[in-house]
Amino acid sequence: MEKVIIIGSGPAAWTAAIYTARGAFSPLVIEGQYTEANQVSGTLPMGQLTQTCEVENFPGFPAGQIRDYVKSAVQSDRVALLPPRDLEHGTIFGAELVELIRSQAVQFGARVVTDEIVSVDFTGNTHKLTGAEGNLYESQTVIIATGASAKYLGLRSEQQYKNRGVSACAICDGALPRYRNHEVAVIGGGDSALEEAIHLAKFASKVHLIHRRAEFRASKILVNRIAEHKQIVVHLSYTPTEIIGTNEKGVTGIMLSGTSGKVDLELPITGVFVAIGHVPNTNFLRGSLALNPDGTITRPIPFRGNTSVRGVFAAGDVADGRYRQAVIAAAGGCTAALDAEKYLNGNE
Ligand SMILES: Cc1cc2nc3c(=O)[nH]c(=O)nc-3n(C[C@H](O)[C@H](O)[C@H](O)COP(=O)(O)OP(=O)(O)OC[C@H]3O[C@@H](n4cnc5c(N)ncnc54)[C@H](O)[C@@H]3O)c2cc1C
Repeated sequence: MEKVIIIGSGPAAWTAAIYTARGAFSPLVIEGQYTEANQVSGTLPMGQLTQTCEVENFPGFPAGQIRDYVKSAVQSDRVALLPPRDLEHGTIFGAELVELIRSQAVQFGARVVTDEIVSVDFTGNTHKLTGAEGNLYESQTVIIATGASAKYLGLRSEQQYKNRGVSACAICDGALPRYRNHEVAVIGGGDSALEEAIHLAKFASKVHLIHRRAEFRASKILVNRIAEHKQIVVHLSYTPTEIIGTNEKGVTGIMLSGTSGKVDLELPITGVFVAIGHVPNTNFLRGSLALNPDGTITRPIPFRGNTSVRGVFAAGDVADGRYRQAVIAAAGGCTAALDAEKYLNGNE
């Protein structure tokens, strides 16, 4: 019987592990599995940050000789897992950042199991979790930090140019040099897509907003703002069919197929931002706790990590349909851990 089990392996999970390990609860972290299905869905262990290069907005990492520090701080058997770096001087990479948080948790005594939780039983006082190979885990508290998966278009070329012009996060990547003063495309028709287009217009010379339907789903106020924006060009009734690029340059263009009688188009761009939604990783929870209409886990008490089930807490993108940033996920890991600690101490 464990005191604290943490499911997940992004910044939320490892931060929860740091706090509960320092609180002497010896947490067990179940970090997910290395499977082909998880590779495709973007849910490999260590989370979404491994899908990006530079993370310029996580506090504490101005550009410098980061790799030297990272190598000295992560567990020695994890150094070989770090992504290659062209330049030693630079900002922290996503994969480095999450390795650092993991190592910090392990240094304080967090234990790690490489398994994926496929079902849960939250009906009794002891919470029961079942792993992919049938292993049973029991715990007084559970912190769910299983993140979310960005939806992609499903094009092979999209996979090929991820991190080299294809991104699912304009707030994260929009200010990077490859997009500054260049033309970029945003795919999507909801509020997020339109907000991302407006954000990108601060850096890009032109933003092409591409939506497969004849009308946007987004709120009227955003649609009006887009219509008035001089740097944003709208392409309605167009579907991306191919992302064009080279090994050397990454993305150089996008092919669009027109519907409703529109002729096909090819746009010269250096970046494609896919903004067609996120899916919180909650499949394994199947009706065991309350979810919000967008699929994220409900946290009924503002600013707290509690869920609808006593002793079960949630943190990070799995419970956040709005911000989806690493620093918010880490903060959520902290609050969930402190709330779990209070619960275990009978001091809710
Ligand atoms: C391309 C891209 C670039 C980004 N860039 C930035 C950036 O520059 N700055 C920033 O602040 N944010 C950035 N983000 C967002 C940031 O990565 C997320 O907000 C953050 O990673 C969320 O952390 P998390 O801990 O909630 O979960 P995640 O990072 O999503 O990790 C969750 C992990 O839990 C594991 N898991 C899932 N289900 C199970 C299960 N059933 N059992 C066991 N384990 C499971 C999986 O391994 C999964 O990957 C970016 C995101 C993307 C996609």
